[in-house]
Amino acid sequence: MTFKFRHRIAFKQARAVLAISLVLGLISTGVQIYLDLQQEKRSSIAGIERFLALHEDTATRAVYNLNYVQAGEVTSTLISHPEISQAELVDDFGDRMSRHKRALSSPYSFLTQVGGYFFKFDTHFERDLKVETSRTGVAKLIIELDSSYIAHNFAFRAATGLLFGLLYNVVLAFVFLLFFYRYLSRPVVDILAWVNQLRKGEHCEQLPYSGKDEIGELVNSFAALWDDRKKMTDQLNNTICELSKSEHFSRTLMENAGDAMFLCHLDASVIEVNKQAMDTLGLRKEQIVGKKLARFSERYTEEELEELFQSITDTDVCTFEDLQTNREKKTFPVEARCIRISLNDELYILILARDITVRKEAEQQIFELAFFDTLTGLANRRLFVDRLSSSLELHYANESSGAVLYMDLDRFKTINDSLGHGIGDKLLCAIALRLSEVLPTEATCARFGGDEFVVLLPEAGTSDITCAEAAAHVSKKIIEHMGSPFHIDGHLLYCTISIGIAIFPIKDHSAQDILRHADTALYRVKALGRNSFQFYDPEMQSTAQERLQIEKGLHQAQANQEFVLWFQPQFCKEGNVIGAEVLLRWNHPEKGLVLPGDFINVAEESGQIAEIGQWVLERSLKQLSLWKEQGLPESFRRLAINISPLQFMQVDFVERLIGYLEQTQLPGNMVELEITENMLLNNFEVASRKMSILKQRGISFAIDDFGTGYSSLRYLRYLPLDILKIDRSFVTGLGPSSEEAAIIEVIIAMADRLGLLVIAEGVETEKERDTLLQLGCHSFQGYLYSKPVPAAQLYALLEKELDLI
Ligand code: C2E
Ligand code: CA
Ligand code: CA
Repeated sequence: MTFKFRHRIAFKQARAVLAISLVLGLISTGVQIYLDLQQEKRSSIAGIERFLALHEDTATRAVYNLNYVQAGEVTSTLISHPEISQAELVDDFGDRMSRHKRALSSPYSFLTQVGGYFFKFDTHFERDLKVETSRTGVAKLIIELDSSYIAHNFAFRAATGLLFGLLYNVVLAFVFLLFFYRYLSRPVVDILAWVNQLRKGEHCEQLPYSGKDEIGELVNSFAALWDDRKKMTDQLNNTICELSKSEHFSRTLMENAGDAMFLCHLDASVIEVNKQAMDTLGLRKEQIVGKKLARFSERYTEEELEELFQSITDTDVCTFEDLQTNREKKTFPVEARCIRISLNDELYILILARDITVRKEAEQQIFELAFFDTLTGLANRRLFVDRLSSSLELHYANESSGAVLYMDLDRFKTINDSLGHGIGDKLLCAIALRLSEVLPTEATCARFGGDEFVVLLPEAGTSDITCAEAAAHVSKKIIEHMGSPFHIDGHLLYCTISIGIAIFPIKDHSAQDILRHADTALYRVKALGRNSFQFYDPEMQSTAQERLQIEKGLHQAQANQEFVLWFQPQFCKEGNVIGAEVLLRWNHPEKGLVLPGDFINVAEESGQIAEIGQWVLERSLKQLSLWKEQGLPESFRRLAINISPLQFMQVDFVERLIGYLEQTQLPGNMVELEITENMLLNNFEVASRKMSILKQRGISFAIDDFGTGYSSLRYLRYLPLDILKIDRSFVTGLGPSSEEAAIIEVIIAMADRLGLLVIAEGVETEKERDTLLQLGCHSFQGYLYSKPVPAAQLYALLEKELDLI
């Protein structure tokens, strides 16, 4: 920046100095001139006085002597004085003796004019001369001063004084100008130039001023300040540079990272994503940014993610697994690492999500290798033992029983050795497949290597006995299923299997102990001739075997028509037969007559009851229609048939029953179905629907063994029931004051209110009958009246009643 000269401090200062000194100079010169003027006046008059005094004697003498020549000399001498313009000598008589006059020196000059203006005084002088001889008067010396001369002189001196004063002031001002320029203005200009240079960013090694005065100090302070500022600016620039570098770095990192990155607010809304994120989701940036992250998650809700983000601290990295779906609707697993970061005092969550499909597959593979048999895909020993161990704890806790079936293929080694491992492997796979076909879904099937297969049947029964029965049943099915040959690579292979069974839990026995038991049992099977099963516990062996024999026998029983129907009559209080209950009997070829207590359970568990029950139903109705044709006593109302839950729940049960009724031309009201409370409880909806349909046909429903099940008032109210059959356990030993009497009383009262009939079963004594009568029960069934008897015998009884009429 350049300044006009007149704007410079030095010039302004010099100008001020000049103006001030001029004013002051003028005033002081004025005063000086004034004082000088006074002094001049005095000294001029004094000078004239002295000069006149010098010539006074001569003038006096000239007058005394009347010497005109001398008088003329005096006056001419007087006018030689530069200040005297006219001299006149007058004698004591008043006569002029001499007069001399000369022209004024420079009456019209400027200085004379100016001087005359200031220098005004009396120019006329008269001096009395004392002439001793005269008494008449005094001689006079009259003088006229040259005022213009004096004024000129004075004005000249004043003018020169003034001039010098002015000159002095100008010089002073100039000196000041130089001084200030040299010591103030120029350094300031230099400093200014230096500052400008600094401002332009040019580097200046040297300071513009090195004096040790205030400016020097100012420059030093400024330089130090500038230096500090520069350092700070450099630092700031560096920081900005670093920042922009790091921003660039971060961006580059984000864009080139292998992971999908999502920068989110703590409320789990996405602020920024990288290319990888867009690629994996198959979405554009604007389709992701601004949305909630949960939108891209298959597992987490908005609230869950927000809660998760809020819980992340600065120090921890939170990792979670999620499922994401891309644009092609393909779901893939991701591992998300969440880091909390703080930017400009705001908290964000950076999520690095990585597609872990490959890793998951590898993990799955490792898992399979670790826990599954590579050949058959079944569980391996490790997984099996693991499951068995946790099963043991579970069974202890819920007091149920499970079974382990240890299996070995009979003569597998022969097949393997003769036909090769390839065929052997294929056979093992085929066996694994067959096993999976027969095993219940909850079972775990494992291959322990070679031809050893092991099955875990968890919660197979509520007691060891029922569990053993179930295990024997499954084993039998396995053995049967292995019975048919395997077709492998053109070979027809027969392969039987031996099974050792152990029941658990046994106190203080580990999974290994249970497996050893099963293995021991397996060895026993092999010793006994293979293709069979054995229990580790001999008692269970006999129970299970018996059960199996029954199951096997039941199949034959049907085929060989070994079942027969027996009937137990029911009586009213007057002693007339009001009906009969059909009771199944099995005419076993070896055991003789077998009661249902020995086989109904097995038939129910094996499912054979459905078929047997249908036979009972059909047979019973045929028998009834026969009796009806032959004639029935009037008191006879209904034939009661026991229906097991499984049978009642058969889809075609209603249809079939109606079919039999139509075939036999029997009215529905001659048929009573005995069902159990438990059946109603488990299948309330279906049962009630079926009952309603049958009810429309006139069929009655009796609740068998009433009071022993889970009696619920709900079904009593809402189901179309007719009869409650008081269980034998309440009747046996019944007396008026027994506890059971109170129960029966309540049952009867309830039945009355619901409009249901009551029949007591298992009435063996008159006391029981009498008590029942007292309690209000009017129908009876039991040995007191009649045991169950074959059909002919029952009809004989009915005929007797007919005859009575
Ligand atoms: P339930 O329905 O309670 O049949 C009554 C059982 O009590 C019969 O045994 C009968 O012989 C016996 N009983 C009758 N009066 C007396 C008595 O005064 N004292 C004693 N101690 N017992 C008496 P049963 O015939 O052995 O039948 C046993 C169970 O087998 C029946 O109990 C019933 O639940 C079932 N059952 C019988 N036949 C069939 C059938 O055809 N189908 C179905 N699903 N179950 C049947
Ligand atoms: Ca019954
Ligand atoms: Ca009963």
